[in-house]
Amino acid sequence: MASLTPPSTAVQPGRIRVLKQGSLDKKRGPVVYWMFRDQRVRDNWALIHAVDQANKNNVPVAVAFNLFDQFLGAKARQLGFMLRGLRLLQRNIEETFQILFFLFQGEAEDNIPNFVRECGASLLVTDFSPLREIRRCKDKICNRVSDSVTIHEVDAHNVVPVWVASEKLEYSAKTLRGKINKLLPEYLIDYPMLEQPIEKWTGTRQSIDWDSIIAAVLRKGAEVPEIGWCESGEDAAMEVLKGSKDGFLTKRLKNYPTDRNNPLKPRALSGLSPYLHFGQISAQRCALEARKARKLCPELLYLPATLKAIDTFLEELIVRRELADNFCFYQPNYDSLKGAWEWARKSLKDHASDKREHIYTKEQFEKAQTADPLWNASQMEMVYNGKMHGFMRMYWAKKILEWTTGPEEALAIAIYLNDKYEIDGRDPNGYVGCMWSICGVHDQGWKERPVFGKIRYMNYSGCKRKFDVDGYIAYVKRIVGGTKKRRADSLVSGKEKELCG
Ligand SMILES: Cc1cc2nc3c(=O)[nH]c(=O)nc-3n(C[C@H](O)[C@H](O)[C@H](O)COP(=O)(O)OP(=O)(O)OC[C@H]3O[C@@H](n4cnc5c(N)ncnc54)[C@H](O)[C@@H]3O)c2cc1C
Repeated sequence: MASLTPPSTAVQPGRIRVLKQGSLDKKRGPVVYWMFRDQRVRDNWALIHAVDQANKNNVPVAVAFNLFDQFLGAKARQLGFMLRGLRLLQRNIEETFQILFFLFQGEAEDNIPNFVRECGASLLVTDFSPLREIRRCKDKICNRVSDSVTIHEVDAHNVVPVWVASEKLEYSAKTLRGKINKLLPEYLIDYPMLEQPIEKWTGTRQSIDWDSIIAAVLRKGAEVPEIGWCESGEDAAMEVLKGSKDGFLTKRLKNYPTDRNNPLKPRALSGLSPYLHFGQISAQRCALEARKARKLCPELLYLPATLKAIDTFLEELIVRRELADNFCFYQPNYDSLKGAWEWARKSLKDHASDKREHIYTKEQFEKAQTADPLWNASQMEMVYNGKMHGFMRMYWAKKILEWTTGPEEALAIAIYLNDKYEIDGRDPNGYVGCMWSICGVHDQGWKERPVFGKIRYMNYSGCKRKFDVDGYIAYVKRIVGGTKKRRADSLVSGKEKELCG
């Protein structure tokens, strides 16, 4: 059972949970930060805490990352993006901060305790994820390290640590919003500078052959290839947030409230979800910069549209995102019908035997073989582009409910496809997005209708009223055509290279 009484630190105590208190029966050893969710050097509370603890105790510090053999079905798309970001991170953290970065492959519950034992670490710091696979893995690590090792978990992902924001499962954004807003003055603060470690790491580490590791994951996960439009890494993430060329806050913010539900205008969205998912940028940094944007260019930015845009963005970035972590943290059944509210479960059950106009198999959905060209386009956008527009994600998931034999099957298919193809998939936001669309989580009951029961309904004509449906279908066709051509060209140029030796 985790306690909330960590030692004094550069990080607010509320951000840290003591997962295991070690017995101090021997000389203090190094600090190891097992990095999982927050894959960045900049603005990382877990890293700040690890270095701070090392310096306070005059011991060295290192970062360890574990590349699982298999994690929630990640393919070349997700793993390629992640590893390219980690390669940059390793260079940065070693050159700028002289902190060694160790990469392990296989099971973290074996590799991390082994590393802790081999280097004689006294403190293991880890970042926070509410997903059950990682929580189980941490339980095993707690049992496998020696009694003398202390383990701290730092919520470096949420602006307000999930266990501080609320101590229970929240019903909706409305019930969480006030709690979070009250805590923002305490938690939405600037980051301290990351200190240099005082003590040098004494051992060495093998060099990391990134090219071979990346080539191996690309081969193994080739079924879902990488995407070309989204560059990985912390610098790329900052560029998307506030770059001078096409940054969200610098160039695109104004249209966020009006255009963010128009799938034909994807640039109206921030495009930050891949970076937030892999922790290549901190949500807290995004929120701080959004607030600063008001001051940077007052004559332009104090327009009501821009102020509204900042507030709308902060609502999604903080309240909605942190509500998803709240759900996955406090609801063990976060990806199953069992996790839905009672009214929704009952209503879906009442309509389980309603006649469906179409029933499709998982394979038909995956191959975009439904009778609805709009749904097929959204599926193709996800498969080829790796990021379906946020508005279409709702329509897409709700139609899966309409065209399957029941909500359990619909949820399983939606999560399977979302995790497999979305660059930002395998995320609490994804599980909650599917649960919201199919099981009414965080939503209210609506007018009862066949199949959906009281779950909010969406249909084709509603979309037609909102945006240019044919334009969107044509836009996705262009993406698919362009991607296929690029893949064919790169195949040819690869073959040419082979032939030329
Ligand atoms: C069925 C379904 C599946 C989804 N799957 C995922 C997923 O796998 N990963 C993912 O990150 N998001 C998911 N979402 C939430 C949302 O659609 C995406 O976060 C958003 O489209 C990402 O694009 P953006 O960063 O450009 O969005 P922006 O509108 O610019 O939002 C900025 C950030 O705010 C957060 N955010 C925005 N909308 C939501 C929301 N509804 N719930 C929680 N946080 C939100 C995200 O972190 C996002 O990156 C899903 C939603 C639905 C309905």
